[in-house]
Amino acid sequence: MASTDMPTAAATGAPVTELKGVGTALALKLERLDILSVQDLILHLPSRYQDRTRIVPIGGLKPGDEAVIEASIRAADVVQGRRRSLLCRVQDGSGATLTLRFFHFNAAQKNSLRPGARLLCFGEARPGPAGLEMVHPEYKLLKGNGAAVMADRLTPVYPLTEGMTQNRIRSLITLALEWMSREGLEDLLPETLLKQWKLPDLPTSLHYLHHPPVDADQTLLLEGKHPAQRRLAMEELLAHHLSLQKARQQVQQQGAPVLKATGALSRPFLDALPFTLTAAQLRVAREVARDLQKPLPMLRLVQGDVGSGKTVVAALAALQAVENGLQAAVMAPTEILAEQHYINFSHWLEPLGIKVAWLAGKVKGKAREAQLAAMRTGEAQVVVGTHALFQEEVTFADLGVVVIDEQHRFGVHQRLSLKEKGRHGTRSPHQLIMTATPIPRTLTMSAYADLDCSIIDELPPGRTPVQTVVIADSRRDQVVERVRQACEAGRQAYWVCTLIEESEALQCQAAEVAAESLKEALPQLRIGLVHGRMKAAEKADIMARFKAAELDLLVATTVIEVGVDVPNASLMIIENPERLGLAQLHQLRGRVGRGSVESFCVLMYHAPLSKQGRERLGVMRETTDGFRIAEKDLELRGPGEVLGTRQTGLMQFRIADLTRDADLLPHIHQLARELEQLPALNDALIRRWLGSGDIYAQV
Ligand code: ADP
Ligand code: MG
Repeated sequence: MASTDMPTAAATGAPVTELKGVGTALALKLERLDILSVQDLILHLPSRYQDRTRIVPIGGLKPGDEAVIEASIRAADVVQGRRRSLLCRVQDGSGATLTLRFFHFNAAQKNSLRPGARLLCFGEARPGPAGLEMVHPEYKLLKGNGAAVMADRLTPVYPLTEGMTQNRIRSLITLALEWMSREGLEDLLPETLLKQWKLPDLPTSLHYLHHPPVDADQTLLLEGKHPAQRRLAMEELLAHHLSLQKARQQVQQQGAPVLKATGALSRPFLDALPFTLTAAQLRVAREVARDLQKPLPMLRLVQGDVGSGKTVVAALAALQAVENGLQAAVMAPTEILAEQHYINFSHWLEPLGIKVAWLAGKVKGKAREAQLAAMRTGEAQVVVGTHALFQEEVTFADLGVVVIDEQHRFGVHQRLSLKEKGRHGTRSPHQLIMTATPIPRTLTMSAYADLDCSIIDELPPGRTPVQTVVIADSRRDQVVERVRQACEAGRQAYWVCTLIEESEALQCQAAEVAAESLKEALPQLRIGLVHGRMKAAEKADIMARFKAAELDLLVATTVIEVGVDVPNASLMIIENPERLGLAQLHQLRGRVGRGSVESFCVLMYHAPLSKQGRERLGVMRETTDGFRIAEKDLELRGPGEVLGTRQTGLMQFRIADLTRDADLLPHIHQLARELEQLPALNDALIRRWLGSGDIYAQV
């Protein structure tokens, strides 16, 4: 076993090609599993185990069991079914029989698998036409009276990539473990901690997880709750936490412009609003204003449910920059949302003599040149846009505040890149990040350990919660009738068509078809259609007409998810809501219930619903509390989906699981504080777990 105090700093980064027999081709395959170094290979843990240590009587097999059997062939026949196959009827001492089925076999195989032959098989028992069968089992013929040689440990099953077999990766990992015993792999967790938590040391944990003993608790291992797994999960969570903390420290080593809250612009702005701020808005606005007066860059996340009024808070932050002669940039993830912000900001700020610039992909040619120039010279004090603001051609005169709406749709990368744009010598802009998807506390603590958090936990007065109805699409006629009644009573309604596949074209087509059939069914109503493939001007025109109540019913794809604000719309129909995540449904539903009339949301599903689908729609019916919905979403779909980070690469854990290991998180914070004095250890942990993928390294 490796001694834990061996110097291994150099060894930890050893590439997989250090291992015997690993060349470039194999290294490339491993790279697809995010395995670059020998250490990565060692940390590639089995997803489950097989028990090849004992022989199971055929009579004791249940469908789905993976097991070793020892049996003799009673009959072997090649049959011509839908596919030609070799069927061997085998029987063991228990007297029970089972079929081995081979679709691919050669003459030699067929010859050796004949009646009387004795063999040892490993495979999964599945129900077949004549009782249980094993399809293409691994098998070994037993000669004479020779006894079977069984495994003495559980056999690991690893996540694979194309062109890689279990046997291949098993032998590679065995090599890697031998390498570890030779070279050592430093245990980065302090011994006191391991003692306190009764956790095994690193090499012991790794040997155990790759080759557990026969008596290992497989249920515990499958659940990921074995002390050896907990130990690794804890180390990984700690590494992530430390890297976020480091990012934050590095940002805060830079200075930021001190932005005094003079009130010169914010006061007239607030006076002109047709409402007064809620207590929650005021509290969060004050937290932001206080941060902006400090010479350190603000890093603040504002969470607030749909409709809680985050935009006003963002506007106040922007105004504080302008009051001090600096610029503010406001960025949103979709063109529609960005446009909505642009409309709001121009409407609010231009009367105060502030020029608001607008940049999105569709702003082209001369208009684009003009906007870019206004941003560069500082003529535009506030800039609103999409991710187009990240592009290289974009420069600011002097950026004081960056507001990012719906942050989780942008990667950390992008967030950092916009901040780079605002860098002025050693000075960074302040960052305000807003999200309408409430993020469960466990996630904020880990995914946003680099951010301070404010919560707008109150909706403006006069809103009535939306009533949600779940109904099968076989009752579509009743739903259409309901739309007619609502619209004839002077209300407006949305009809939302969801994504069928990952194809925008198909979704738009579905919306077109739905609009046509609704026009036929409801000739008395004024019906409009918006979808992602329409020209922006056309879209904007339809939206404007709906807002002005010139349309009764708006048929839309999920593009209306964010940004539309029509208080008179009090009914929303969502077709096939089972296709959407809870967070997205919650966002959509937030488009109604903005006025004082009672609003309804009809979730019109297509039967049959999966168990999870039923559960999800049930949650929507039961609650309108965004935080509860988010918690449930996390439980049902896992953190990757909830944060939308699959694509962005943020928060990908090898071993830890935020739901399963949630109880560790509070301790991680405590630990991180204790480790603050050990920068070398911190860096080693970050390197081990985030490796070259340490996206924070470049802050
Ligand atoms: P979100 O938090 O979803 O971004 P918005 O900022 O778009 O919410 O606000 C939703 C709606 O509520 C807007 O029409 C906005 O003008 C209005 N609003 C915001 N704050 C208040 C308030 N304090 N009182 C009444 N209406 C408000
Ligand atoms: Mg908003």
